[in-house]
Amino acid sequence: MTASLNRIRAFLADREPPTPCLVVDTDLVAERAAAVSAAFPDAVIRYAVKANPVPEVLDAVLSAGAGFDVASTGEIALCLSRGAKAAELAYGNTIKKPADIAFASARGVREFTTDSAGDLANIAEYAPGSLVSVRLLPDGPDSVTPFGHKFGCEPPVAADLLRQAADSGLRPGIAFHVGSQQPDPAAWEIGIATAAKVAADAGVALARLNIGGGFATEHREPVPSLTGYAAVIHAALDRNWPGPRPELLLEPGRVIVGDAGLIRTEVVLVTTRAAADERRWVYLDVGRYNGMAECENEAVAYRLEPVGVKGPEGPVVLAGPTCDGDDVLYQRTPCALPVSLKAGDLLDIPGTGAYTASYSSIAFNGIEPLRTYCVGRFADAG
Ligand SMILES: *Cc1c(COP(=O)(O)O)cnc(C)c1O
Repeated sequence: MTASLNRIRAFLADREPPTPCLVVDTDLVAERAAAVSAAFPDAVIRYAVKANPVPEVLDAVLSAGAGFDVASTGEIALCLSRGAKAAELAYGNTIKKPADIAFASARGVREFTTDSAGDLANIAEYAPGSLVSVRLLPDGPDSVTPFGHKFGCEPPVAADLLRQAADSGLRPGIAFHVGSQQPDPAAWEIGIATAAKVAADAGVALARLNIGGGFATEHREPVPSLTGYAAVIHAALDRNWPGPRPELLLEPGRVIVGDAGLIRTEVVLVTTRAAADERRWVYLDVGRYNGMAECENEAVAYRLEPVGVKGPEGPVVLAGPTCDGDDVLYQRTPCALPVSLKAGDLLDIPGTGAYTASYSSIAFNGIEPLRTYCVGRFADAG
């Protein structure tokens, strides 16, 4: 991590790119992808492309022997263009058109996730013989960014879909995703136990157990290590599948790329807004529409590191640069910055490699999407 931050800071010092920008260390991406494989040696690893789809990140993931969890025809085309093989792609989005399935199938993709009879019938028709995992509705603790009820089906429905999959000549599996930035490994224990029960109820042999992504990265609070998650997950697998077990698949996004990125931003304005509120309002040139989307509901509390500004600190409210009233990053989450902080000063926001650039709008208020620069071994491959 330190070596990685040093590479990023050296790049920023040397190049002084315009702010705001994200700098990603591709060496750390490759290292983290390899660490996931090492923690789960029997599992197939499919990096969730939506976390950060820049080509250099995909190259680093591929070099570590992992493939990709894709959610659209665009992501399929992108991964294939970087040299991924179709067999290394899993189409994990349960919401797709028949044409999307046909596109994937024509390019050789043979693994899908589903959670409805309609989508399952489309997969049987347009990608016959494929492996299809039925996504369960998780029943565990909420993550920091929970998925609510948008995806997944309850156990009896899942058992029906598994039988339908087998009857239509598909290879059935089970998938679940515990929500992103999930600090509680018990969420996987519940998912694994439910999956074992659903498979037994359905009376089908599973070709796949897809335990999703969701592994958390550290910001202000400590989170479990990859080996910590793995110990809980392997114990749950041993308990629930004492006999032969379906091949495991993981779809990590954040834990592979989150720590590898750092956003540099410039202070646009420092002011006060109410005589009764001692907090200064600090406006940055990065906000919720150009990189800080996960500040919605203040879900992720990033660390803030002033660049070269020291001295006593005082409380602040942090906001983005646009004309939107929701473009406030933190007003409940305590934030402190030096009292000497002024317009033109720079701040670094580490741990921002995931779900930042990929969430940027293209021109809200004429502000361009967050620009990404890469450093490390894969940086010049783009
Ligand atoms: C977004 C997503 C992932 C990746 O989640 P992370 O928290 O980034 O690991 C994995 N699986 C599915 C189905 C997803 O939607």
